[in-house]
Amino acid sequence: MQTTSSTDAREEQHWTCPFCPLLCDDIVIDTAAQTCPRLRDALTHFSDQDTNRCPEIDAQATEFSSALSAAAKILTQAKRPLFGGLATDIAGARALYELAATHGAILDHLHGDALAAGTFAMQDRGAFFTTLSEIRSRADLVIVFACDPSRRYPRFFERAVGLDAQVIHMGSEANNALLKGIDPFDILALWSAQIETGRRHLSDELAALTKRIEAAQYTAFIYEPAALPQPHAALAIEALHRIVKAFNRTVRAGALALTGDDGALSVNQTMTWLSGFPLRTRVAYGEPLDHDAHRYCTESLLKHRHIDALLWVSSFAPEALPASLDDEMPVVVLGHAQTPTLKRKGPTVFIPVATPAMDHTAHLFRVDSSVVAPLNAARKTSLPGVAQVVVELTKQRRPS
Ligand code: SF4
Repeated sequence: MQTTSSTDAREEQHWTCPFCPLLCDDIVIDTAAQTCPRLRDALTHFSDQDTNRCPEIDAQATEFSSALSAAAKILTQAKRPLFGGLATDIAGARALYELAATHGAILDHLHGDALAAGTFAMQDRGAFFTTLSEIRSRADLVIVFACDPSRRYPRFFERAVGLDAQVIHMGSEANNALLKGIDPFDILALWSAQIETGRRHLSDELAALTKRIEAAQYTAFIYEPAALPQPHAALAIEALHRIVKAFNRTVRAGALALTGDDGALSVNQTMTWLSGFPLRTRVAYGEPLDHDAHRYCTESLLKHRHIDALLWVSSFAPEALPASLDDEMPVVVLGHAQTPTLKRKGPTVFIPVATPAMDHTAHLFRVDSSVVAPLNAARKTSLPGVAQVVVELTKQRRPS
């Protein structure tokens, strides 16, 4: 695969890449993926043999119907299941919500920590977000805060930043970064004090940057929740948005969080519109919804054995089961076709599923949450999608 130049763009069939939330929509199918290392790496997990992968019960190949019955049995016997991973598209998320409500399950995502940090900050103080289009068309200054977008989002600058925009890195390990290697919390505290009190002598570098932002037409602040110091990333996000809000008293500025990988944004948005709560919520028909971003974190639920079964969904890549998972806990995996055979002590059902935009059409939210992109399939396989399998599982639970 490759990206097209504007000249031949109209003549080529474009495909939208699902492997990071930038959702680049200018990819040409059938040519190599030289332009994006992350896409190239993702494509190494696909082959013509994928369709031949069989469902498995306790590491033994079986029929789809048998795996489905065994999976339904595990979920039915569980009193407090966790639906984790949740690397899927919007259709998968909708179907999983119904299955979760049927079984009284807790829902959390593979990237639940990064999502929760953003949610905490939003709940506490609100946020001042911008979009990819706004950055590209309006931002003449881009501040990259304590992260290196090229590492996980290789085409971010190419896709989102205008050619004339000035990019300033700060608080990261980049060679030319302002306040290189300084703790992000220290930078934010100092900068906030400087802006709120007008005491610019606190830091010459921050004073000069403040002056530059005040002279800019539009400044975009970019950060990665997952790259901020854990476990208190929410505090850093809150402080950064507070600074963005302060600048907006006199100039225009907005922030963009680079997050939402593996369908995280799509699943979170879907859960929110279906229930009114984001992920890390327990849903059960006939019972009040129970949202708790701390208590319903996958890591802590597994570590303290507060759940008795796990449904793990991983459709974009062969994702390993969480390291803290008890080897004896019953597990159902709706996984990528190249997931290695799962040899565990506890009952384990594996059902291979299709990958959104590789094997079936899909809808995913873009990183700025402002666009739901329709994605076409890059190839044809007979693998069932997550939504398809989950609908079948839900039917097995319903009384006939
Ligand atoms: S930057 Fe992300 S969406 Fe764009 S081609 Fe690379 S992996 Fe795909």
